[in-house]
Amino acid sequence: MLIPQEMKAAVWQKGELRLTTLPVPEIEPDGVLLEVLSVGICGTDHSMMKSGGLAEGTILGHEVCGRVVACGAKVRDVVLGSRVIVRPTFCGQCRDCRAGRPYFCQDGRRSIGIGDMPGAFAEYVKVYPDMLIPVPDDVDSRNAALAEAFAAALHGINCIDAPEGPALVMGGGPIGLATVCLLRLMGVSPIVLSEPVETKRKLGRELGADHALDPFGEEMGRRVFELTAGTGFAAIFECAGVPDNIQKALDWVARGGDICVVSMIFAPAPIVPMTLNFKEARLTGCYSNTHAENRQCLDWMAEGRLDGRPLITDVIDLAQLPRVLRERIDTGQAIKVIIETGAARG
Ligand SMILES: [Zn+2]
Ligand SMILES: [Zn+2]
Repeated sequence: MLIPQEMKAAVWQKGELRLTTLPVPEIEPDGVLLEVLSVGICGTDHSMMKSGGLAEGTILGHEVCGRVVACGAKVRDVVLGSRVIVRPTFCGQCRDCRAGRPYFCQDGRRSIGIGDMPGAFAEYVKVYPDMLIPVPDDVDSRNAALAEAFAAALHGINCIDAPEGPALVMGGGPIGLATVCLLRLMGVSPIVLSEPVETKRKLGRELGADHALDPFGEEMGRRVFELTAGTGFAAIFECAGVPDNIQKALDWVARGGDICVVSMIFAPAPIVPMTLNFKEARLTGCYSNTHAENRQCLDWMAEGRLDGRPLITDVIDLAQLPRVLRERIDTGQAIKVIIETGAARG
């Protein structure tokens, strides 16, 4: 395959993304070069840009579907021309890996976009074979780029032993909506979504929520009582990133129920711990996801049981990213933004 010398990339410089021309990364004997087809912008990317702590020269982008265009001499079992998604490596041997938590592995961990290697807001990205998960032929590159967001939602659900209804999803961003889709697929019922933005509530209903409520417009306590026949929710997923939601979840969870905090909440969230005693509820959080969860979501997509594409509100090219970030992402208007390069279009 013909690989050019130079590529375009969106590089973090002086507090903003700047479209820059860079040399295409060189791969070592154990490396693989991907041509980026579709890459999603994740809430994590956005928070890192807003945090003020993002290092100069960073190239973000980890929710990527790419095509293998070059393999180093030592690489086996990676098919040139095949499509893949990319996840961090893990050692398979440390305490966390042995306990089934490979996403906590720190032993030689390599990752793109939010780790030690440049990410996929670029035309090409360098990766390693252990990072790669093949994309089934029946899954298009946009859907595949969303598999990781679905895997993150699936991981939140898997943090609860046996999710049951009634279930509440707090927040209708990409992860909350993905959680709705997955709960639906798993047969959990009824599913209630709480989300202040009308268009997101509407999409939530289309994707499988039995009820979609505006947490500011409704008398939530009364609605929770009605919708759960007075028991509260057996499972609650906090996907909104709102600190006050933790105590609300404790108030609305059923006795013996589960709460999983899927979003990352940096601010303190005051709670009354006694609520946990009176309900023997479990409050947990989830972090990242496994390769197996990503494979599962891709398989469901291939079977036609899961489709991330309704979440996509914007398909753009790299050059449009700085503007779309300001006008559509910062303002909360976009749900899921996908960047496509010339390779995906042509
Ligand atoms: Zn992500
Ligand atoms: Zn490990």
